[in-house]
Amino acid sequence: MEATAIRKWMDERIAQDEIDRYLRPDGADYVNDAEIAELLKPQPAPEAGRVREILAKAESIVALSQSELAELMRVEDSELWEEMKAVAGRIKHKVYDNRIVTFAPLYLSSKCVNNCVYCGLRASNGAVVRRVLSQAEIEAEVRALAGQLGHKRLVMVYGEHPESGVDYIAESLATTYAVKVPTRRGFGQIRRANVNAAPMKIDELKVLHRCGLGTFQVFQETYDRRQYARLHPANTIKGNFRWRIYCMHRAQDAGIDDNGCGVLYGLSDWHFELLAQQAHVLEMERYCGIGPHTLSFPRLEPAVNTPFVENPRWKVSDDDFEKIVVLSRLAVPYTGLIITARESPAMRRRLLPLGVTQMDASSNIGVGAYAAEGGQQDQRSERQQFELGDPRSLDEVIREWAEAGCITSFCTAGYRCGRTGKCIMDLLRTGAEGKFCKLNAILTFKEWLDDFASPETAAVGQALIDQELAQVAKRQPVAYPQLKAYYDRIAAGERDLYF
Ligand code: SAM
Ligand code: SF4
Repeated sequence: MEATAIRKWMDERIAQDEIDRYLRPDGADYVNDAEIAELLKPQPAPEAGRVREILAKAESIVALSQSELAELMRVEDSELWEEMKAVAGRIKHKVYDNRIVTFAPLYLSSKCVNNCVYCGLRASNGAVVRRVLSQAEIEAEVRALAGQLGHKRLVMVYGEHPESGVDYIAESLATTYAVKVPTRRGFGQIRRANVNAAPMKIDELKVLHRCGLGTFQVFQETYDRRQYARLHPANTIKGNFRWRIYCMHRAQDAGIDDNGCGVLYGLSDWHFELLAQQAHVLEMERYCGIGPHTLSFPRLEPAVNTPFVENPRWKVSDDDFEKIVVLSRLAVPYTGLIITARESPAMRRRLLPLGVTQMDASSNIGVGAYAAEGGQQDQRSERQQFELGDPRSLDEVIREWAEAGCITSFCTAGYRCGRTGKCIMDLLRTGAEGKFCKLNAILTFKEWLDDFASPETAAVGQALIDQELAQVAKRQPVAYPQLKAYYDRIAAGERDLYF
């Protein structure tokens, strides 16, 4: 595509009226830097009693205010931190039980017009091989993901470029959902495709909503405006801070009510980021009636020919990263928390009991890499955005989770029955959805074990399923006969039966 055509496309991306309508009456944004600066001023750590009061609020599955979160951030006492970690784990259990959801990232395009200084895919990085997958190539990727690895959920990732605009995203969703691959006992398919892409206009988001996209994910990267301006050149689309901080408002107005937020940790002071993100959560509750469906925690990783990530000033240590996850679990108790394979196996093990609900596995972030590598990881850095920390297969990771007592859920039923947005969150908060989720987790785990598991994983997984079935028989006697009927049909090779 010619440079002038690309420039023209870039110049037409931002609809100013789709920013202005969301500003406060005085023209201010929902992130109030002065208020956050005030909260971050040195103050004594809160008393244990006060901390417990805040923890009780979190345990009632209500989002914390910014000042409550700031108080928790000031806790220094290690025993109190242990209490906070225990409450984080309990909240996860209360809302999501022992389920963990898994997915794979699918990179569709590495062309990007932006120049984010930390990203391997930035336009000025000549060391990266650029590709936009054709529909046939997408199909091949999905066949490998759904047919060989057994994934049911994807996060589809796109650079911002006219060749991967909304029409391309819509077509790629349709291609993805159409793939159905025979497996050992049944068939594999992608049942939920989430999208991680640049902010869009309301009409474009409506198109994606009609295509059945799952969660719409946009990470803010940093809520720190000055740092944002340094990292995202002003002559790029991404250089417009406000276009990004109101993208979830536009998604809601387009009818998309499962929206995923995140900070790219390592770009600015994480204390500021967490408080600003909480302002975003509360603003979404106010405007959308529900906060984010998920929060993600990307942490800066090395990327080819990207000096910025080598020694960033705001690099987040493992101990601080653990605090960030715990504080997020407490601050937004109902939301899903996603830790990706950017993190090492050891770090993911450490975070699992602290409230994480979703992790990817057997991930490959090279464009076109799943089909090309037969499902193996392609670590050639010139093909990918950054380097992954956890290269383990889904089979290995699922076995580890099962050994830790966690059931891997491939359930996507809630979304297909209209249980999304505020509806699903209300059900989760009250424990009502949890009852369906448990049943669907058992059924989808059984499907996966029969179709994809190694003998070792099948043995550990089946033992967990037997335990879960016995529990349901005791605790949900009314639902049990139907569950058992579905379970037997799945064991005989039927697929996609759900509550
Ligand atoms: N281009 C879209 C955008 O920027 O919103 C979506 C795709 S982008 C590849 C997805 C996310 O990757 C970004 O939002 C950013 O948080 C993350 N990312 C970029 N560079 C990274 C790095 N070096 N390490 C870890 N994550 C990174
Ligand atoms: Fe492009 Fe997204 Fe990378 Fe920025 S983070 S350069 S917008 S792919």
